[in-house]
Amino acid sequence: MANKPRSAVFTTVLWDGGSKIADFPRHIVRLRNHAERLRIELPDNIEQLISRCLIEYADKSNETQLLNIKYECETNQFILTSRQLPKVRNSEIHAMTLPLKKWLGEITGTKHGDWSPYIDAKNLAEEAGADIALLVDGGESGVKHFDMSDPYCRNLRKKMSETAKDQPPGFKGEGVYCCSEGPRFETAAEVRMIRQWGGDVVGMTNVPEAQLAKELGLCYAAVSVVVNMATGMEQGAVGLEYGDGLIKASMQRLRKLLKDSLMAPLDQDHCGCSNALIPL
Ligand SMILES: [Zn+2]
Repeated sequence: MANKPRSAVFTTVLWDGGSKIADFPRHIVRLRNHAERLRIELPDNIEQLISRCLIEYADKSNETQLLNIKYECETNQFILTSRQLPKVRNSEIHAMTLPLKKWLGEITGTKHGDWSPYIDAKNLAEEAGADIALLVDGGESGVKHFDMSDPYCRNLRKKMSETAKDQPPGFKGEGVYCCSEGPRFETAAEVRMIRQWGGDVVGMTNVPEAQLAKELGLCYAAVSVVVNMATGMEQGAVGLEYGDGLIKASMQRLRKLLKDSLMAPLDQDHCGCSNALIPL
């Protein structure tokens, strides 16, 4: 069994059980990128080699399933293994966090072979009664700083802004979100202060989510639905305008906005999210 980080490289695809693989060209690019990071040399004609293996492997079941395509360095061969699609669970899951192991301090999260830490993590999670284990980078090395030049991913913001422009009116553009500690509303004096700081909207969420996303190297952005004027901005007490269906109507639009914005793949090469951690 391949158990070293450079023994193999793989990708897992959605397969129709016959000759079709979803997003095959993108998986090829991904496989090549992972191989490059691991310094594994792949043959030039991997598309043809995989196609040939697929013809032999096809079970003609016409059943959509997951297919693991693994290149083993020792034998210079592609090995295919399939498994059923996991059932989608719409229920609470329990996760535990474990420090992510790194090889030579650099190889982590790449698509290499049967790397034992993943299997160990799965076993540990099962033993602890958890559904999944989240492997967290930096767990053993302590506190790390991270870059907040773009608190929200610049690519995602641009995508969402551009998509929102083509949708029904009401989108006000980008702004500065200030997070206050809820569940209480802000005082009028706090709202004046936030205005002076350059804040456009104020709310009780998004922090620490934005920071945690940065720590994990995730692209993250937020869309705010403004449901009331802040304290002191207009006469009377502050209330949330739930009654007129504003939030419900906004949710439908938000779902469409998110779906339309995320149709194209994310381009992590042109945002700083994936390398926001600053080595000490
Ligand atoms: Zn990003």
